[in-house]
Amino acid sequence: MPETGKPARFLPFAQGRDLAIGDGTLLSGAVGDALLFADATTEALYLGDLNGAACLAYVADETAVAESDTSATGLRNLFDVLPPDEYAVAGLAAHLLHWQTISRFCPKCGGATQPTANAWAKTCTVCGYAPYPVVSPAVLMLIHDGGSRVLLSHKAGWGDRWSILAGFVEPGETMEECVERETREEVGLSVTEIVYRGSQPWAFPHQLMIGFTARATDPDAPLTIDETELDGAKWFDANALPNLPGKLSLSRQLLDEWLRKIAEK
Ligand SMILES: [Zn+2]
Repeated sequence: MPETGKPARFLPFAQGRDLAIGDGTLLSGAVGDALLFADATTEALYLGDLNGAACLAYVADETAVAESDTSATGLRNLFDVLPPDEYAVAGLAAHLLHWQTISRFCPKCGGATQPTANAWAKTCTVCGYAPYPVVSPAVLMLIHDGGSRVLLSHKAGWGDRWSILAGFVEPGETMEECVERETREEVGLSVTEIVYRGSQPWAFPHQLMIGFTARATDPDAPLTIDETELDGAKWFDANALPNLPGKLSLSRQLLDEWLRKIAEK
């Protein structure tokens, strides 16, 4: 429970998308309070406590946000702005607010749903079915050659940024099988030594990113690029890397960890 007297932290999302924050931190006090009451359309979600302060997320009135002393920014651009613990709460808030928008009706019978006590689930008022928030697992795989080269890919719209391969886990598949399948499908390589390295919630809108490293069985084999997914993929030496994803992303963390290992060799 929140500590007595500790002011609540507010997470108002303009149009359900851009989070209004104060000066590099989640809102608290009168500004957040005012935005909460300026919004007449959605209920605030109590997310739990952060350092003893209750956290409340809500869809805020766009005009009120624009007129307030805040800056409203998409979550991706808050990576290097909010402290990591606040960014994690912001991701949870975005995930659950999105869940509110897609769970108003039962996926089984189409009946209206209502909140379920003590869970983020909804309960159908007609058939009683209780859908839970969607979490979509996706793998990230850093493919290396066993030496100092890493395979990076590029998609349209990424500018000059390159990243490691990624793909959604399919029904009936283990995460390791997904790493093998996606690597084969996207660049035509087979991999071995698949090692789990960590995971990260990714609220765009409801993924869980699961990170692996893997070694290409034959790194000199020609790449066969799936052009419906990627507009480029190639090997880079650790000494000559292009622009990489932002530092808080798991992709970048996997790359930084691999680079440290290469440097120690
Ligand atoms: Zn139903």
